[in-house]
Amino acid sequence: MNSNEIEIHKELKKYFGFSQFKGLQEQVITSILSQKNTFVIMPTGGGKSLCYQLPALIQDGTAIVVSPLIALMKNQVDAIRSLSSENGIAHVLNSSLTKTEIAQVKKDITSGLTKLLYVAPESLTKEEYVAFLQSVPISFVAIDEAHCISEWGHDFRPEYRNLKNIIKQLGQVPIIGLTATATPKVQEDILKNLDMSDANTFKASFNRPNLYYEVRTKTKNIESDIIRFIKQHKGKSGIIYCLSRKKVESIAEVLQVNGISAVPYHAGLDAKTRAKHQDMFLMEDVDVVVATIAFGMGIDKPDVRFVIHHDIPKSLESYYQETGRAGRDGGEGHCLAYYSYKDVEKLEKFMSGKPVAEQEIGFALLQEVVAYAETSMSRRKFLLHYFGEEFDSETGEGADMDDNVRNPKTKVEAKDQAVK
Ligand code: ADP
Ligand code: MG
Repeated sequence: MNSNEIEIHKELKKYFGFSQFKGLQEQVITSILSQKNTFVIMPTGGGKSLCYQLPALIQDGTAIVVSPLIALMKNQVDAIRSLSSENGIAHVLNSSLTKTEIAQVKKDITSGLTKLLYVAPESLTKEEYVAFLQSVPISFVAIDEAHCISEWGHDFRPEYRNLKNIIKQLGQVPIIGLTATATPKVQEDILKNLDMSDANTFKASFNRPNLYYEVRTKTKNIESDIIRFIKQHKGKSGIIYCLSRKKVESIAEVLQVNGISAVPYHAGLDAKTRAKHQDMFLMEDVDVVVATIAFGMGIDKPDVRFVIHHDIPKSLESYYQETGRAGRDGGEGHCLAYYSYKDVEKLEKFMSGKPVAEQEIGFALLQEVVAYAETSMSRRKFLLHYFGEEFDSETGEGADMDDNVRNPKTKVEAKDQAVK
């Protein structure tokens, strides 16, 4: 270790209490500390926040962190404050602050106390704030959830498109982009929109070797099939994703009637019921949550043993995120998707009301899901290839953890599909 490395290990311990970096964190931090534009692609839970928080804490000036969700920003600011004795070490700048609060934020930044300033992209466009930020030393700008800049991402936010223009007005400051979206198209968009093709890029592997991937043809017996599956995993925690609220309700009911402890979760339930059902799942008062995609953001239950998709997801990106909630602890995680072409047509019909550009993207993403469902090759290889990652389906980690590898289709079946 050179002195620089010893230094950042010491700072890691001092601020976060960790004795080791996770994955590529150390390389990323070294890149940021050398004032380079840096692009970080790591799966959810990979430890992206620390990649910019640590360099922000040890450098002069204030780091601006752009993040799309006010609730997440508040959490992060509270977490940083708990590491320090100074409240002013981190602040959020947004429209909900009073004049007095804004004055305090500005004072703390000007005095050099504030190391991290979290801003929503729409606040950053305010002229008043830009003018202020031009007058103070900025260490770098971190753009969290950078996929929001791309229409090919799962959460496009037009305000993100303005970021580069605003950052330019702040002078020569390094930009750090971070995302858990690994598709090459989204990555290209991010680099292009932030005008940082020169960025040092760090991409972690998206392989989850402990997850088993399986696709079953959806038939009218799906409900008894799901019940059988859950009974084979008795007492284990699992999530069942459905497309509609109505389906969520009816599946939850069918499971309950069949003696499986299950609760529904969707945006149509009031906040209190949602919170209650989520807690029941986390506290293991129930085994199964039947949910729309409204469920899962920020859910950190380590021992989810299965994720079932009653209906196919709208993209492989969503599929990866949703199945990624299984087996966080490294233990078993069974990812089962039911597939029927009728569902594809249903999803296409949903999209037909949208603007043409959006539709085209939606169809293209959906076609990838169809290809995944119909493939006879290693599903893990297929998924990782979609994320721009090569996977050796013979020797790679978790290579035999899918239905296609364990029970290869006969040559005739496979050829049949190739012709299609
Ligand atoms: P991401 O933003 O990539 O989804 P987070 O930044 O939220 O991930 O971090 C996920 C978890 O990993 C957090 O609980 C964080 O405290 C933990 N973590 C991050 N870095 C380390 C480390 N070096 N050692 C141990 N835990 C870490
Ligand atoms: Mg994050």
